[in-house]
Amino acid sequence: MCFEVKERDLAGRIGALRTRRGVLETPTLMPVVNPVKNTIRPAELKEEFGFNLIITNAYIILKHYGMEAKDVHEITGFDGAIMTDSGAYQLLIYGGIDTNPEEIVRFQERIRSDIGVILDLPTGGFATREEAEQTVRETIRRAKESILWREDETMLWAGPIQGGRYLDLVEECARVMGGLDFHIHPLGSPTQIMEEYDYLTLVDMIVTAKRALPPERPLHLFGAGHPMMLSLAVALGCDLFDSAAYALFAKDGRYMTESGTMRLEEMEELPCSCPICVKRNVEDLVDLPKEERKGLLARHNLYVVAKELRGIRESIREGTLWEHIESRCRTHPKLYQGLKRLSEHKGYLEYNDPMVNKVMRGLFFYDEVSMIRPEVCRYKERIASRYGRPKGKEILLLIPMPEEKPFNKSKIYKLVKKILGDREDVHVCFYGDPFGVVPSELSETFPLSQFESAIGLGKVWRESAEAFIASKGYREVFILGERLKGAKTINSVEEIQSCLKLLGATD
Ligand SMILES: [Zn+2]
Repeated sequence: MCFEVKERDLAGRIGALRTRRGVLETPTLMPVVNPVKNTIRPAELKEEFGFNLIITNAYIILKHYGMEAKDVHEITGFDGAIMTDSGAYQLLIYGGIDTNPEEIVRFQERIRSDIGVILDLPTGGFATREEAEQTVRETIRRAKESILWREDETMLWAGPIQGGRYLDLVEECARVMGGLDFHIHPLGSPTQIMEEYDYLTLVDMIVTAKRALPPERPLHLFGAGHPMMLSLAVALGCDLFDSAAYALFAKDGRYMTESGTMRLEEMEELPCSCPICVKRNVEDLVDLPKEERKGLLARHNLYVVAKELRGIRESIREGTLWEHIESRCRTHPKLYQGLKRLSEHKGYLEYNDPMVNKVMRGLFFYDEVSMIRPEVCRYKERIASRYGRPKGKEILLLIPMPEEKPFNKSKIYKLVKKILGDREDVHVCFYGDPFGVVPSELSETFPLSQFESAIGLGKVWRESAEAFIASKGYREVFILGERLKGAKTINSVEEIQSCLKLLGATD
């Protein structure tokens, strides 16, 4: 096994990827390095920015140096782990390349790549159904064949998942690839989808691939590297990223931040404290010769990416990845759509999210989108399927969730208990968002007692409350301060006593 999961939050994980150049911590990003010329020396990527893994292109090496090419570490001057791409990307963009699947597999072994990629057939973002089917078929065929050409057992191999927007094809490809002898699975073709900011499709593609793959296989999201979207992809289960964006953006005068991209010439201040930005102001950068400016901007962009990755990993350890993705996804409406899409994949997140929250930090709820989080789904599911009303409690009295926590220490609860006196037949439960119905005896458990919410009463709770009433078999149900199907409304706390009296207590 080359991959071990150390920590989890949502479907995101901290993993250890074992390569022959050492163990790498994931999630991580591989800066894309040109084997021939670079804005930043590859060695610096490790020394200065902490990237222990880079990706370069075996096809370009083959074209440039021929079959006699040296070790890829020597060519790039990088002594960490190197993944090599096979030329499939060139195939997608330029429509034809001058090698074949067997040659490029054997060539990657020869140049001592640590992680190789087979020459797959990328679906791309604009393929017709028929074209997509053909790319999947051919990718699978080549994947099976490539295993026979391998000679070096210490090298890791990546088996790409194609299918593009056609989710059933992604599913099929992931299922077949997951059954073959590969170590990593890149999810192909998201670049064009990401360029269109089509995060709905991207979310569906990632979840589809993940569901079909064995959990111990790392998923690599090909071509994704903007810091603003990394956390969403990690939360869905992506472990590896690669990107040339840091350099491409720099060439174009674009300055990355965790929340978007700015144009250098439109800026007045540099809102960053990386080693590049603390020592300079915007004019310094604008006045530089083009090449030099490009180099500094690329460095800044890499610092931002590296910082975001550290932040993501730390939030997984803390159990606050949800809060992290919520803040990132609110920086762009399209990304926010992607976040909302998670409501379609609640079961997937819930299944992967660890049951125990190590840190027991309070949960934050901003609006109904926050209610997608697994803790809410898990609680609601348990109340619906496993909770039975306590013995002897024949009458349900629903009262609104108070601001104070735990609820059973609140003023309203104490008042209601006082009014009820020694009546043992009344079961007091709280209603409201985000949790729906909370029986008073559970209100001190996590996370019911530790959350902060801006939702107020909201409106989602009604569904849970109606289902609770319909399934738990109370003789009579009252609700304080609201109207609800299956319940009699009590307008004020003062009326509780007279309403319950009318009912005739069991005494
Ligand atoms: Zn900076």
